[in-house]
Amino acid sequence: MKWPADYHMHTPLCRHAIGAPTEYAAQALAVGLTEIGFSDHSPMPRDDFDEWRMYLRNLDEYVASVEAARRDHPQLTIKLALEVDYLPGQEGWIRELAAMHPWDYFIGSVHYVSDSWDIDNPYKLSEWKKRDAYEVWSVYFERLTQAAECGLFEIIGHADLPKKFGIYPTRDCTGLFATFLDAVAKHDVAMELNTAGLRKDCREIYPSPQIVQMAAARKIPITLGSDAHAPGEVGLNFAEALSLARSAGYQQACRFTRRRRELVAF
Ligand code: ZN
Ligand code: FE
Ligand code: FE
Ligand code: ZN
Repeated sequence: MKWPADYHMHTPLCRHAIGAPTEYAAQALAVGLTEIGFSDHSPMPRDDFDEWRMYLRNLDEYVASVEAARRDHPQLTIKLALEVDYLPGQEGWIRELAAMHPWDYFIGSVHYVSDSWDIDNPYKLSEWKKRDAYEVWSVYFERLTQAAECGLFEIIGHADLPKKFGIYPTRDCTGLFATFLDAVAKHDVAMELNTAGLRKDCREIYPSPQIVQMAAARKIPITLGSDAHAPGEVGLNFAEALSLARSAGYQQACRFTRRRRELVAF
């Protein structure tokens, strides 16, 4: 059996991951992967935006470190990418980033539901107590829908990130998911199955089986990602992700080369 590529991994340049890209690549080969992609947290125009992404001045070093991993591991296909934060109004900046290097893909992720609240930040967990969970999920999925519509991303990352700490709305969210997935399908974007959720309080892959099934019904293509922030996390829980994908009817995952998509059977 051929594993799909692990398209979501970070590097120390984002200031909260460990291990050089070449160590992630070595681990990928050790666990039997043939293709990976680095998608570190993209820089913002201002380096003081937050403390968990790379500085703009480090972008060239990032690219060079991925190229070094390629040189060290010629038997592994290594893609160059970014996990880009979508915030409304950032489209111009994302276009500028896209022009800076020969990227293979951009993962569009929403972490911020306002300019100052990144909902997955454990240091801001108390924010959840100040707001109604359904209201937070609504704003999050509204932004994620805009991310799908803006045409700047090949892949939408960890689609139900608000479940990270296990805080769920009491109201049914199916309508939010449907609006988002309709936009993903219409704009021909792929969606990732991200195994990092299994390592969080929610103990579930992002997104949930319900969303994966709704995506499959819309023929939305998928990628897999470990969201590794350390070499030992590369390809982690891919067996679970594949069985989730298969149970929804998927038999293929995407590969991206210079922002062009192909489908590869698994
Ligand atoms: Zn991170
Ligand atoms: Fe993320
Ligand atoms: Fe990530
Ligand atoms: Zn991520």
